[in-house]
Amino acid sequence: MTLPRLSAPPAVRWITRTLEDAGYETWAVGGAVRNVLLGRPAGDWDLTTRARPEDMRRLFRRTVPLGVEHGTVGVLASDGVMFEVTTFRRDVETDGRHAVVAFADAVEDDLGRRDFTINAIAWHALRETLLDPYGGVEDLKAGVLRCVGGPERRFAEDFLRVLRACRFAGRFGLDVEPETWHAMMASVGNLRHLSAERIREELVKILDGDPVPSRALGLYRSSGIMGALYPELAGRSDDAWTASLDAVDRLPPGRPMLRLAMLLRGLDARSVAQLLVRLRLSNVQTEETAMRAGAPPLPTATTSDADVRRWLSRVGPRRLTAVARLELAAARSRWGKDASADAVDPASVVAAWRRARAILSELPALEVKDLALDGRDLIRLGLRPGPEFRRILEDLLERVLDEPDLNRKERLEAEVATLVDADGGETVQDG
Ligand code: ATP
Ligand code: MG
Repeated sequence: MTLPRLSAPPAVRWITRTLEDAGYETWAVGGAVRNVLLGRPAGDWDLTTRARPEDMRRLFRRTVPLGVEHGTVGVLASDGVMFEVTTFRRDVETDGRHAVVAFADAVEDDLGRRDFTINAIAWHALRETLLDPYGGVEDLKAGVLRCVGGPERRFAEDFLRVLRACRFAGRFGLDVEPETWHAMMASVGNLRHLSAERIREELVKILDGDPVPSRALGLYRSSGIMGALYPELAGRSDDAWTASLDAVDRLPPGRPMLRLAMLLRGLDARSVAQLLVRLRLSNVQTEETAMRAGAPPLPTATTSDADVRRWLSRVGPRRLTAVARLELAAARSRWGKDASADAVDPASVVAAWRRARAILSELPALEVKDLALDGRDLIRLGLRPGPEFRRILEDLLERVLDEPDLNRKERLEAEVATLVDADGGETVQDG
């Protein structure tokens, strides 16, 4: 395999020239160099330099202090695009979760603290030379993910690297080098020391950015990470797991929460809730994901319109499309492969989704607040305000879901009379 020719965008060359002219060695490094070598879009270009933050802020007119104590300054190019420039660093102290870093004078020190050989390749944008002391280019060509230095020590320095290894190997379709793999498996027990946020962000990055997340997630499972971090998912049978991953792959990148819901679909509600709470997503994301993952199947063409309205009322009309996409992905992943009776024809999911949309376009009442009658009307009818009200309104909604024409004030008032009579009239005020 021959690697594509590297070249950096003009702004990277400009930043490099400005720093080098002032006497500070500067290299492009990390993800962009790796991605371009793989023939992929570069993503963010990061630079590493011997200049200290105060030097950078002196040399560039427009800078943003992104993490000056860690050596990182954002430099704004003329078009407003920001580039992260970081002083060469080395690790002074690590405990698996945090690192104490010191500034270094040599780029080799900086490359030596990076996690994997493919992430430790530097490119000099002016001299147009590679600096690759750990053989990252060879590993890229061979399709291998390997730690820089001894894997056990490198994972002990920062447990997050275990998760990053799965992410990079999955994303780029690399084989994990055996010693690196064994050290990963041996480190799984330490992952619980990582913060929920870092664990979550790794999962979200896989779901958000990877066109084929099943590979990285498959490594989560085979390494034992899944059992340590997501036991609810680890308990699945091999068949259920394969089907679930296949369906996740069918959803597009850029929709991490939709893919997460897909991954959780089929778990019991308690497991879903537990896992989401542990991930510490926002309340909105937690609720949305749980609702999507736990939604009952869309009513099929043979059910009544009332069933469709009831489904929309339970699940929420704004979730219709998301749930339909989940069902469609699940149906496609099983259709034609799965002899079992509950395999669903994808065409029937599309039909069910269209039908639900058509019913939705009639703007039926789906919530209590859509009723043509409210608490004030109940008072006017002589009922005493109280917890009863909620129940009466919910009963009315059930009837309206069955028969949308009922949703007119006079007709609902007549319904209230029958509801209250059935209760023995206890809630009717005297006089
Ligand atoms: P992407 O942004 O696509 O996820 P990336 O390689 O740019 O990939 P970043 O997390 O942005 O990954 O980090 C940039 C670079 O910093 C990496 O390429 C790697 O060299 C280094 N790096 C980041 N995190 C770590 C870590 N935990 N341990 C060692 N090096 C790291
Ligand atoms: Mg990056």
